[in-house]
Amino acid sequence: MIAQGKPGRVFMGRLTHGADLLAELTAFAAEKGIRAARVEAIGAVKCARTGFYDQAARKYGYHEFGKPMEILALVGNVSVKAEAPGKPFVHAHVTLSDEEGRAFGGHLAEGTTVFAGEFCMVELTGVELTRRPDEVTGLALWG
Ligand code: ZN
Repeated sequence: MIAQGKPGRVFMGRLTHGADLLAELTAFAAEKGIRAARVEAIGAVKCARTGFYDQAARKYGYHEFGKPMEILALVGNVSVKAEAPGKPFVHAHVTLSDEEGRAFGGHLAEGTTVFAGEFCMVELTGVELTRRPDEVTGLALWG
């Protein structure tokens, strides 16, 4: 499945101290009526929670990082799920570093608290990106 759209509105903004990173990005997309976009961010978090998809068990396991870390890179997208077409769904992955410069990361999960950061969201127009349950992987994929 490949969708071809055009860049629409481009937003750059500051993340809110103390906010949940995933929830804030999702709320921003909802507030602006964004249904498809590319998203990126850098900054720092007070703590983080990331997921790793166990392909055999077909479910996410989670890592909790209970300390401040840098967001080296957050890369993701916005689309919608078939069961909730009116609500933007943010899928993002993060690479985080600790005080030693060691990198960790995964699928961004709720439970990641912003210390400070900056994000960019590039809307994609003229395209419909909808996630549907995929029997092969157990994930909600575009299709
Ligand atoms: Zn993911």
